Amino acid sequence: MTDRLSPEERSAHMRRIRKVDTKPELIVRRIAHRLGYRFRLHRRDLPGTPDLVFPRLRKVIFVHGCFWHQHDCHLGAKQPSTNAAYWLPKLARNVERDRLARKRLNDDGWRILVIWECQTRMPDLATMLVEEFLGADSQPTMR
Ligand SMILES: [Zn+2]
Repeated sequence: MTDRLSPEERSAHMRRIRKVDTKPELIVRRIAHRLGYRFRLHRRDLPGTPDLVFPRLRKVIFVHGCFWHQHDCHLGAKQPSTNAAYWLPKLARNVERDRLARKRLNDDGWRILVIWECQTRMPDLATMLVEEFLGADSQPTMR
């Protein structure tokens, strides 16, 4: 028996997971919208293609799946049950890519909030994080 997936099976599998994974992003979009902010989605000209972009505020929000982006929580700590040789380096690359994207955005004067999937399951907490992040305008743009 082998638990190896063919490349086709693997990408079909990942597409399915990604689809479910968009829900946390929708939650965050609804929060920002309800707070009265206007934003752009998935700006590919910015490092890391941030999920929500607030151009005039020069702020971005990433909504990260805990597993995909290896959050330090029970969801992120879940180990891939099959094919670890495939998943582990891939997840490590995600984390490194995230780190670089945040650094480049920060260097360009963007302020960044990462909302984790597990936080979107607590609506009050997620709302508070978004509200505080978007409302905090007194600090200078560059850190
Ligand atoms: Zn998490």
